[in-house]
Parts: sequence; structure tokens; C-alpha cells
Amino acid sequence: MTTVLGCIADDFTGATDLAGLLARSGVKVSLRIGIPTEAPTDTAPFEVIALKIRTEPVSEANAQALKALDWLKQAGAERFFWKYCSTFDSTPKGNIGTVAETLMASLGADQTIYCPAFPENGRSIFMGNLFVGRLPLAESPMKDHPLTPMRDSNLMRLLAPQVTGEVGLIDRLTVAKGPSEIKQALAKLHSEGIAHVVVDAVADQDLTLIAEACRDLKLMTGGSAIAMPLPALYIASGTLAADAPRATIPTLEANRVILSGSCSAMTNAQVAHYIAQGHPAFRLDPLELAENGSKAALHWLSQQDLTKAPLVYATATPESVRAAQEHLGIAKAGAIVETALADCARFARDQGARQIVVAGGETSGAVTQALGVSRLEIGPEIAPGVPWCFCSSNGAEIALTLKSGNFGTETFFTDAFAKLEAR
Ligand code: ADP
Repeated sequence: MTTVLGCIADDFTGATDLAGLLARSGVKVSLRIGIPTEAPTDTAPFEVIALKIRTEPVSEANAQALKALDWLKQAGAERFFWKYCSTFDSTPKGNIGTVAETLMASLGADQTIYCPAFPENGRSIFMGNLFVGRLPLAESPMKDHPLTPMRDSNLMRLLAPQVTGEVGLIDRLTVAKGPSEIKQALAKLHSEGIAHVVVDAVADQDLTLIAEACRDLKLMTGGSAIAMPLPALYIASGTLAADAPRATIPTLEANRVILSGSCSAMTNAQVAHYIAQGHPAFRLDPLELAENGSKAALHWLSQQDLTKAPLVYATATPESVRAAQEHLGIAKAGAIVETALADCARFARDQGARQIVVAGGETSGAVTQALGVSRLEIGPEIAPGVPWCFCSSNGAEIALTLKSGNFGTETFFTDAFAKLEAR
């Protein structure tokens, strides 16, 4: 079936988050990991391509985004969505604005919107400032992120150095007036030469109004939530038929493993809660890994009963992360941990694990690559923005969930398995 909306996500958990919210509509959503090597066949109405370009050099991020765009064009898409994190995770140079501008140039689009709001998960934008719960972004735990510490809350200020075009704002007062006022505001900004428009949103209702106003832009950009209203809008207008099948959910053995490389505040709470409940857990120490590799972790895993869902984690406090980074360098500390968790994933699968929980965006990228997973069917949601996905790895059917750092509540790990049992 021709693809109605072609989506590009800057990391793996972001892609599953987006795919999960689109799949709430019941419309089939297909998620491809990395730029597909085959020509588009058997395409879904919503195609999401997961890249791993959040912290790549700008030129590499742009090149990959353009390849993904070409594939989605070939799949028949005429509208596109660039998905990044709801906490606007980016480096001072990019890649949110840089990639958006590159995609715009290729599509001949002279304006786009930026709306990372995700009210259900506590991300809201007011007067161009992003809030995480009640805290401005720069006062939230995101200020201590290992790879993309966010030290400013103002989206226009964050975006400006990442683009060559002008940056503007449509604030909540205009958004609340409805789609035609939003369209007028976009047109006015356009006449002033403003290409990059941050749009306020504090509630799901705002997202619906914005999506309605922007649904036919060649390119929309944002977190996952701004795309959520699109399937219903496309169905209502006949752009999309309502009879697309739901994903089929396989029954899988309850052999489980949890791999956590996220150091986000919520993941720290989830890991602590899981351990406090008496579940088996093994802590990875980056310095130890740098010396001896993954041996100890794999040995520990080989002794575990996978029906007890053992946890392997590098999750640590900001102080502990900083200490490891000072010894090893930021990139090397991250890479060492990612490699170890990727090794654990492959090992656990070979030991029979069929339900795998992964915490952390970069971590998920490393794990899915190690498992050789290239395409996922989107299944039931565990927490807002975190669905189970079904895929095949080395000939085995597995369920995989890729949790972005701050998503889910304290009980996420047990919630995840309960979701599969509930079926
Ligand atoms: P999140 O979704 O929370 O941002 P990510 O997996 O994207 O999580 O990013 C966390 C990064 O921190 C990864 O590169 C991971 O390898 C690295 N990391 C994990 N644990 C540690 C640690 N103890 N010390 C240093 N870096 C770590």
C-alpha cells in the first residue's frame, strides 16, 4: 500500500515511540531500522525509518536523513515527518535544525514547524520554552544527560545556531484559537521570511489543532505526539482508508532479559525499584569493562534463569557517569557500555531470551544492531510512547521494547512483561 506519511526518527526509541503513537489509530505501522537496503515493497501507510543520528557529525546526519527521505519518496510518500526527542536532545551544532533544513531543501519546502511537546509525558511548550513536568528543560534532569546535556530551555535559542534560516514562534494564545488562525500565523511568518517555526502546545487538544493546521505541510517536525492526530485526520479526509489491518501479536516463551544503558532519572528509579523488589541484577562498571570487556557480565547471564527476567545495567547517577567519563572520555565510556549491552543481548537471545526490554535510546540502537533486527511490527503500548515490537532475530521471533530514558513509571520493567502476559 502506498505510504501516506514517511517518517524519519533520529534514534531507535524515538522511532518506536512515534510508531507506537501512530499505531494507536489501528492503522498498520512499519518500522525499519536503518536505511532499508531493499527497494520499498510491502509498505505500510505509515513507514518509520529509525536512524541513529542524534549525536553524529552534522554532515553524516544530513547524508543519512537524505537517503531515508529518498526511500520514503520511493514508497510513495508525499508528506514527511522528522522525529526527534521530546526534550529536544541536540548538540550545539545540530542535528535537529540542520537535518530539518536539509530535508526542506530536498522537498522544496520553505517552512516547517517544530513541536516536541508530549503532554501525556509531561513535555509542554509555552512561549517557546520547553518544560519537563513543572521544570524548565534546563533545570530538569536533562541538564545532566551523558551525551546531550540540555542547558537552555528556549527552543528558538536552541534552534537558531542549528539553521541558516530565520526562527519564529506561534504561541499558545494563537494555537488555542484553532487551525485557521494557526495557518494564518504561519502565512504571516512566511511573508516575513521565517522558515523555522516553533509552536507552543501544553495539552493534547493543542496538538490536534496544530496537526490539523499543518497536516498538509510537506515536512512537519517534532516529538512523537504531534504526529498522533494525523492518522485520524487522514482517515477523516479520505487520504487514508480506515480498514488497514492491525499487527498480529505472536505468543512467545517467557524467557526474558532487561538491558539498561540509560542514565536518565526515570531509568535510575526503574532500576532501583526493580532491584529493591529482589529481582536478579548485574551492574556494569565502565572502567571494569574497559579493562576486561563483557566476560563477567556474560558469565553472570549464563548462570541466570531467564524466566526470572535478569537485569544487566550500566545505569548510574550523574556523578558516577561523570567520573567514568573523566577517566575514559564521553564517547568511549558510552561506546564501551553500549558494546557490553549489545554482547549481552546476543548472548541472552542465544540462551533463549524471547522477551527483551532495552532502556536507553543509544543503547537500543546498539542492541538492535547486534541482534540484526531490521524491521519491526508495532504491538501493544506498555507506557505512553513505549510499545512492544515484534521482530525476528537470527531466525527467532522475539518481542523487543526500546524504552527511551525518561519514559515509563517506576514499575516499567514489570509492567512490560505483564503487558505480554495479559494477552
Ligand atoms: P537515554 O535514552 O536515557 O538518553 P541512552 O542509551 O541514549 O539513554 O544514552 C546513555 C548513554 O550513556 C549511552 O551511550 C550509554 O552507553 C552511556 N552510559 C551508560 N551508563 C554509563 C555509565 N555508567 N558511565 C558512562 N556512560 C554511561
